[in-house]
Amino acid sequence: MKPWSAIFPLLLVALCSAPQVFSEAAPRAPRRESSLPAIARHPKTSAQIAQTKAILSSARRHVEVLASDRARGRGSATDDEFAAARYAAAQLKRYGIQPAGQNHTYFQRIPLDSMIRPQRGRAFYRGKTTTNVVGVLRGSDPKARHQAILLTAHLDHLGVGPAVNGDTIYNGADDDASGIAAVLELARVLSLGPRPRRSVVFALFGSEEIGGYGATYFRSHSPFPLSSFIANLQFEMIGRPDAAVAPRTLWLTGYERSNLGSTLAAHGARLVADPHPEEDFFRRSDNYGFAKRGLIAHTVSSYSLHQDYHRPSDDVAHLDFVHLAGAIQSLIQPIRWLCNSNFKPQWHPGQRP
Ligand SMILES: [Zn+2]
Repeated sequence: MKPWSAIFPLLLVALCSAPQVFSEAAPRAPRRESSLPAIARHPKTSAQIAQTKAILSSARRHVEVLASDRARGRGSATDDEFAAARYAAAQLKRYGIQPAGQNHTYFQRIPLDSMIRPQRGRAFYRGKTTTNVVGVLRGSDPKARHQAILLTAHLDHLGVGPAVNGDTIYNGADDDASGIAAVLELARVLSLGPRPRRSVVFALFGSEEIGGYGATYFRSHSPFPLSSFIANLQFEMIGRPDAAVAPRTLWLTGYERSNLGSTLAAHGARLVADPHPEEDFFRRSDNYGFAKRGLIAHTVSSYSLHQDYHRPSDDVAHLDFVHLAGAIQSLIQPIRWLCNSNFKPQWHPGQRP
């Protein structure tokens, strides 16, 4: 899979002013007109180029903070996870997103004792607290604002663990700092334009890696009744391209189960079906608990089954920031359309879990 820089000479010109990203990437001859994705066929406006630059530098900063060695791998239900939560909350505050956690804060602090059944022998987590970050962009339409789109990712990763090649920090750059960056960037960009008609809830869940306790807690402490959520998109591992799909393309778990993916694709999202159905990813992330409650909930990813999964080598150096920025940008217009439309996605017959 070629990085963005090989596909968008126009983009390259614009972004070369940010040498920290592209010094190594030499522009290549543009491909045949018809093979270029729509966005390349129609040269980018200066506003679009400016937006891409902003997403690229902002998403990179989020990942570099959240997946740095200092972040110590954001271990589930640790102070490191809470530190990541505080960083994310500070960003949401900067973007003017309203706090929707406990006591008018962005946080849902969750004692794991209340979540973990004693016989599960998770003594290590006894007395520990995990954290969700929750914010809301209230819709502008008096009626539609009672409906909401739920955009999520998970905050935690594996923390500090057994050394691999002398490295004990499981940075979790792709899993899931890239997803957190997507949720924060969508919050930033959606809060910039005219307020959407429907409300948008941004949630970052703690303790996904140890059983999804943050998402479970959220379902019974949601700022909106679960029935008012039109759809949930969980962002997981979008920091590196997947050669199993076309360039600059993301895939959706359980794509065949509802008309959400196909409808977003019809509105410009570069979104296709999960090319790894044998991995059963639909059930392996926080979306699944929502789907079981009837909510149209899927995970967006471009995970290529790379060798760094759940290893210390899932770090910033292995990420493709051009891919990440492109992935985020490709979803802005389709998600903005969803937030302003009356469209309600549906499960296909017999496909609701
Ligand atoms: Zn993950």
